Amino acid sequence: MATLRDILNQNVRPANPTLCETLDRNRIRCYACGHCCPIHEGQSGVCKVRFNQGGALYVPWGYVAGVQCDPIEKKPFFHAHPGSLAYSFGMLGCDLHCSYCQNWVTSQALRDPNAVSQPLEADPDLLIKGALAQGAKVVVSTYNEPLITAEWAVAVFQKARQAGLLTAFVSNGNGTPQVLEYLHPHIDLYKVDLKGFDDHHYRQLGGRLQPILDTIRSLHKMGIWLEIVTLLIPGFNDSDDELRKLTEFLSGVSPEIPWHVTAFHQDYKMTSPADTRPEDMQRAAAIGRQSGLRYIYAGNLRGRVAGLENTSCYECGELLIQRFGYSIEQYRLTPQGNCPACAAAIPGRWSRKFDGQIAASPFLPRKGAPSLNILP
Ligand code: SF4
Repeated sequence: MATLRDILNQNVRPANPTLCETLDRNRIRCYACGHCCPIHEGQSGVCKVRFNQGGALYVPWGYVAGVQCDPIEKKPFFHAHPGSLAYSFGMLGCDLHCSYCQNWVTSQALRDPNAVSQPLEADPDLLIKGALAQGAKVVVSTYNEPLITAEWAVAVFQKARQAGLLTAFVSNGNGTPQVLEYLHPHIDLYKVDLKGFDDHHYRQLGGRLQPILDTIRSLHKMGIWLEIVTLLIPGFNDSDDELRKLTEFLSGVSPEIPWHVTAFHQDYKMTSPADTRPEDMQRAAAIGRQSGLRYIYAGNLRGRVAGLENTSCYECGELLIQRFGYSIEQYRLTPQGNCPACAAAIPGRWSRKFDGQIAASPFLPRKGAPSLNILP
């Protein structure tokens, strides 16, 4: 019987030439993520899904590990087409191995025998047909790390753009100049999960801080709409000092980048820190404000974080978008994306009209969705 590894090895394509380089007779360097692995013949990179065979780099293709329709607020994007539906797909694997991963069943599928995932056969046309049938506005590569499957994301995004849809990544931000240049023509929105501001902690998770900071700077410079999320883990990344450094960095890139602080709950292998409390979120938000950030949000504690789910005008304080969890309760921006009280331009990607929400909670594709078959 074929193993997951066998199945994934059969569903591949050669890498885009800009994302790899032959080093010598036996090794290829991959540039899809900040590890920049030199990969020997017959071996795979740290992510375990890109591998060198016969002197060529092969990369994942032709499957998804799952598809779900999410409110865009769940990704989270709060300054990009509020209320729209995000048709979200993921593949398998990750270049990091965070012990608190909330998507570990897909991200750690090739590392952890407890992470059992069944890939489904897919092609870009079929996925876009599914997105349109659900009324989605945005197609999002998420759930596993999308950088390591960048070629497949671009193939899907090209079809999405042709169909008039927007495209997005929900990513750990461990990028390279090469992969960001490759993605740039095809991507509208990018969420980076900035996991803290301590390189030592990043190394425990299997990465380094510097490539993530470089990615954030580059995305902003490229004009791709960017929001940042930090999962606040008591005792791991929530000291005043670390939060000050993190928010000062973001504010230095641009005070207009929205920063989402989300509450930790015990998950996967991280079961000792306490769950994040509302007062921890308020403290982090206060530090972010002192650092100059203008749009700070608190997530995962619906209705318990006084005001930190709403968007207010930075200039005059007018309430612009009132939220309860992922639900939009009031939408008051002008069609041009300005404050209705003082006319200040609010940073973001706004629709001319708020059409209500198709859903304020996630659901599996329903009416008219093409069915995806389990790979043999
Ligand atoms: S995507 Fe990252 S981890 Fe995977 S092979 Fe390429 S450089 Fe290595």
